Amino acid sequence: MALYALNFEKLISAHEAPNRGNYRCIECKNPLQVRQGKRRRHFYHIKTTPSCRLYSKSEDHLLLQMQIQSLFAKGEVSLERPFLPIGRLADACWDRHKLIFEIQCSLMTKKECEDRIRDYASLGYRVVWLLDDRLFNRKHVRASEIFLRENICYYIQYRRNALSLFYDQFELIQESRRLKKSPRATIHLTHPRHMPSSLPEIPLPRQITSRKEAWPLFFEGDLIHKALLSQTFLPLAASMQNWIFLENNLPLIAKPPKNKLPSWLFNLFCQLMERLLCKMNS
Ligand SMILES: [Zn+2]
Repeated sequence: MALYALNFEKLISAHEAPNRGNYRCIECKNPLQVRQGKRRRHFYHIKTTPSCRLYSKSEDHLLLQMQIQSLFAKGEVSLERPFLPIGRLADACWDRHKLIFEIQCSLMTKKECEDRIRDYASLGYRVVWLLDDRLFNRKHVRASEIFLRENICYYIQYRRNALSLFYDQFELIQESRRLKKSPRATIHLTHPRHMPSSLPEIPLPRQITSRKEAWPLFFEGDLIHKALLSQTFLPLAASMQNWIFLENNLPLIAKPPKNKLPSWLFNLFCQLMERLLCKMNS
């Protein structure tokens, strides 16, 4: 489903579109019709078009987009903003800060993640990935998720009848296995900050120091913000020390996974399954 469509080459929102009209999908250009959904008026593809990202967009995805938009003042964030030069449609775009919020409720390949980041970067925009934890943040971590967590990326705990939770966490990942994760740390998407030139001069977990090098910005409530606050808030400083200890010791004592296949064969099997799932979702 989609919130916008092309109407004789002009963009039209489902909200203002008459029931009958010539509507085409922004992404795949196939014909659409408009209808009143349970929560919001939207366009739908007349024919099955599994290759189109908008065709497979779920109502949960749409609801999450609307929840993100509701966090901001009216007009600040636009949904499904088309970027025609790169043929992309942003889930939620915050033009003032040149940020794209991309909600991921389905699997995608690492290559698709890289392509999307590169395409938006070519227009001066940065992508903030928000991964639905009903699919991500599980015990087995796919290559695409490991890649995304190295970029600006958080998780979503989906809630249908209340505002969903957008959160960050400490985590330990070893060979595609999530060994441990901390309680959820709520992040505030409306409060981005530039990455500081330096962090507190105290020992910090590797997850924070590596993020400091890779991320250009962070959001209030996330791990970088906690590291900054740990200078003055002792419980946070203690938490940092705890995670340093876990980073140094847990991988050494963690039991190997209980798969009967050799690890190289198990990893190959996981990669094939991931590709298959991505194809089914695309
Ligand atoms: Zn389409």
